[in-house]
Amino acid sequence: MARDRLGLRPRQQYRELGVELLLGARVAEIDIERRDIVLESGRRASWDLLCIATGSSARRLAGFDDAIYLRELPDAEHLRTILERREPLRVVGAGFIGCEVAAAARGRGCDVTVFEALAQPMQRVLGAELGGYLAAVHRGHGVDLRLGEAPSPDLERPVVVGVGSAPRTELAVAAGIEVDEGILVDELGRTSVADVYAAGDATRFWSPLFEERIRVEHFQTAQRQGFAVGRVMAGMAAAFAEAPWFWSEQYDLNVQYAGTGLAWDETVTRGTFGKPPFSVFYLRRGSMIAVAGINDHHTVARARRVMEARAAVSRDHLADPAFDLRRALR
Ligand SMILES: Cc1cc2nc3c(=O)[nH]c(=O)nc-3n(C[C@H](O)[C@H](O)[C@H](O)COP(=O)(O)OP(=O)(O)OC[C@H]3O[C@@H](n4cnc5c(N)ncnc54)[C@H](O)[C@@H]3O)c2cc1C
Repeated sequence: MARDRLGLRPRQQYRELGVELLLGARVAEIDIERRDIVLESGRRASWDLLCIATGSSARRLAGFDDAIYLRELPDAEHLRTILERREPLRVVGAGFIGCEVAAAARGRGCDVTVFEALAQPMQRVLGAELGGYLAAVHRGHGVDLRLGEAPSPDLERPVVVGVGSAPRTELAVAAGIEVDEGILVDELGRTSVADVYAAGDATRFWSPLFEERIRVEHFQTAQRQGFAVGRVMAGMAAAFAEAPWFWSEQYDLNVQYAGTGLAWDETVTRGTFGKPPFSVFYLRRGSMIAVAGINDHHTVARARRVMEARAAVSRDHLADPAFDLRRALR
């Protein structure tokens, strides 16, 4: 995609919305006492209410300083060049980014080797069973998948490292705002400091739905939580209580997930496991806390609504593809 088409909105729209957009203006410090921020240029700007939405940065791997860490546009452009040249590619990490890169590279005809420390791809979120299914899918498409094997850091072949992200919390920490694996906020986006809010990947927020603090690294949640916090800051209190949701395209599979990777004690499969469309529900003490669907968009969308409504559905109904989950909402 052309660079000039990547902006979220045209510049003009910010002006129309009354938003002053300062690009290339890195914030160096938040001064809580004086209620202003200091830019790297030295310029100060005052605030009445402040929202920190600094996102996250790619976790680095020791010995892999020259690898491609997919985060910024130049990283994606670098990777595209490699794929266009059909260079053999090594990928470290079989999470969502690693698996998507592998699928895209195989689609371009590159030789791909993937190293994953855990026993299956995407195991932390999807579990070993569904991870095992996806491992077979990748191998079936010609990926050399090395599970439980550490890669050697020799970089004679291009390497993409996708081993998770870390919240960007430096500004918050320096300002004395409470941080613990993310800027801690409540369901309204309020930090530990009055009039300072935070939203998106940078936060770990209280979820009234899951009744614990969660951190999510997906754009849909960053966007929806961002809207909610913006409304709160504008005086329209509205707690953010949605179930995180994201999807991933790998080969001819659309993998969708709703939930937040919390530990489960039981799974229920809808459809025939391994034959798309099918879905896996993750239950904790009998309640659905997540769902993953393979080419099964409707099930995931409906299950998400069921979770958000905290509606009860029996295991038999979950397992039965003929049972429309929307019936649980009536
Ligand atoms: C390669 C890749 C693929 C992804 N694919 C998906 C996907 O398919 N689906 C999905 O749901 N999610 C995906 N994600 C995750 C998604 O991009 C994030 O969840 C989302 O962008 C988070 O939004 P955010 O606004 O919180 O943070 P960001 O989008 O990271 O935005 C934070 C912004 O703050 C700026 N900033 C940071 N520090 C400062 C400072 N001191 N001063 C001024 N500005 C600062 C940054 O430059 C950045 O522009 C992907 C992420 C990556 C890296």
